[in-house]
Amino acid sequence: MTWMRSPVGHHLDAQPGSLHQFLHQSENAEVAELAGAFRRPRYDAFLRHSQALVARHRLDETVIGGRVDSIRTEREHLLVQGEGVEVAARRVLIATGTNVPRMPQWARRLQREGAPIHHAFGPCTRLDHDILGGGISAVQRALMVHRSTGQTVRLWMRRPVRVADFDVDRSWAKHRFVGRWAELQVSERLDFLNRRAVGGSVPSGLASRLARAVRRGSIELQHEVPTVEWDAAQEQLLLHGGGRTVESSGLTLATGLRRETVSGWLRSSAEQLGLPMINGIPRLSEDMHWGRGVHVCGPLARLRLGPMATNIVGARWAASKLPSVRMLPV
Ligand SMILES: Cc1cc2nc3c(=O)[nH]c(=O)nc-3n(C[C@H](O)[C@H](O)[C@H](O)COP(=O)(O)OP(=O)(O)OC[C@H]3O[C@@H](n4cnc5c(N)ncnc54)[C@H](O)[C@@H]3O)c2cc1C
Repeated sequence: MTWMRSPVGHHLDAQPGSLHQFLHQSENAEVAELAGAFRRPRYDAFLRHSQALVARHRLDETVIGGRVDSIRTEREHLLVQGEGVEVAARRVLIATGTNVPRMPQWARRLQREGAPIHHAFGPCTRLDHDILGGGISAVQRALMVHRSTGQTVRLWMRRPVRVADFDVDRSWAKHRFVGRWAELQVSERLDFLNRRAVGGSVPSGLASRLARAVRRGSIELQHEVPTVEWDAAQEQLLLHGGGRTVESSGLTLATGLRRETVSGWLRSSAEQLGLPMINGIPRLSEDMHWGRGVHVCGPLARLRLGPMATNIVGARWAASKLPSVRMLPV
């Protein structure tokens, strides 16, 4: 990933112009380039800026390593517990993100049977020459695999490339839209989140690089989801699609991340604390409060913040709404 998809104003510092100013410092000149009309920063520039922030505010000194598996009340406190963790707190912010790769049932089943199928966001680092997915990650991966191996990559997509600068209509990235979002009925918000805020698009610059790679023969596009067959005895992976059958050494799924709902330990904690949910999504008040001192940001805050909740700009909005942390909107 060379470029961020979001513009230079979307970063982790409180001041909107912070990343832009950072890139003007002479020691950052080699990563200072901004791409296209939306002025997207380089990914390495974004990381460098984030690391500088962590160092400046000594944020790593405040980290307690461990996996949380329950939040409950104990006297006047919330008790946050888990492997290597036990913290008494008056306020808790749930920011557990979206980190579960989305894999179709058939892929899970074949993976269990030993087929060489993995997810691009999983731990496996193998570079497969068959990639399934139609969004930015699939295209970036296909280009990267070709660059690294010099071999043709087959990219399987269920429909033609959808070109869009952002996965979600850019108008939702404007701060005033949070207000408009709040005016919608809950049922309208759910409807929007389920039907219209779909991912799987590719920004125009990347779409042009893909078209060039297809013309050169570096990438072969198949507008179909292949039927996949695994012969465990022969250790043979066959992909049927486009009117033919090809043998594959491995298939990478770039099928995105699961749309997060409250589940597992968080669900049992929420039920015990009596925290309200609609279709498995927290119902939050204006200040991101779920109840009993528990606040939420990230994808689980999408009923409150709208489709941008999952992105950096959504994290900035959430921070601006938390009563103890005021900062300027982007
Ligand atoms: C390929 C890709 C490109 C992207 N590009 C952009 C972009 O250009 N612009 C943009 O705005 N957004 C982009 N995004 C989205 C961006 O990654 C998210 O906005 C951002 O990572 C959200 O940060 P977060 O801290 O909320 O969640 P995460 O980064 O998902 O972090 C969640 C953290 O919580 C921890 N955690 C989870 N459960 C527990 C538990 N039980 N106990 C303890 N810890 C736990 C996890 O280990 C993790 O460290 C991109 C995402 C992907 C996948």
